[in-house]
Amino acid sequence: MKRKSLISEKHLDYYKLLEAFQQDGCPVCLRLSKVVLDYLDMLLYENVNDPDLRQRLRLSLGFCQRHAENLKEFGDGLGIAIIYEDLLRMVKSKMARSYLPLTPKEKCPICALVEKQEVNILNTFVNFLPDEEFRQSFEQTSGLCLPHLSRVFIKIKDEDARKFLITFHLEKLEILNNHLSEFIRKHDYRFKDEKMTKEESVSWQKVLHLFAGENKSMKR
Ligand SMILES: [Zn+2]
Ligand SMILES: [Zn+2]
Repeated sequence: MKRKSLISEKHLDYYKLLEAFQQDGCPVCLRLSKVVLDYLDMLLYENVNDPDLRQRLRLSLGFCQRHAENLKEFGDGLGIAIIYEDLLRMVKSKMARSYLPLTPKEKCPICALVEKQEVNILNTFVNFLPDEEFRQSFEQTSGLCLPHLSRVFIKIKDEDARKFLITFHLEKLEILNNHLSEFIRKHDYRFKDEKMTKEESVSWQKVLHLFAGENKSMKR
């Protein structure tokens, strides 16, 4: 009975996490990159003229640097021009009246969305970690980035689950460490004839993502 009730509670976040487990990288970072991608898609293709969203962007003075870069990667110049022309007009008129520079009154709307979704995704991860199917599927991944591992860890009360997470990640860190050491060693001219493996050649990117998390490129 208990098992059945757990399964019936499996919602969209659960299945989306399982989907992220199939890809390369921290599954929480991957999910959040998808959240941003979906938002930008929605913004540029459906909501460019949405009055509520326009108002929201007037308060935040557009998007933060990181999300402005994501928006730029999308490459929809017209959508961006329409949204920001509106903001530019507002800034001009306010600045002309007050003779003061403008400061944002609210957080970047994508940052706000990501923060909210991040909490939901982390909670889903923690809730379903005892689920056998979920855990087995997670074990196929290269693990969480360090920031997400620590945020997940503090939410877990169960000692076994905590041990599992640390043991699992220590194994992954060991593997990455070996790839990195080989990457460095094979840069020595004495070993230059030894062929670099695929894992070794991307290990420097992996270690950056491990420490900082990953903002997956929006380029399609
Ligand atoms: Zn992450
Ligand atoms: Zn932002």
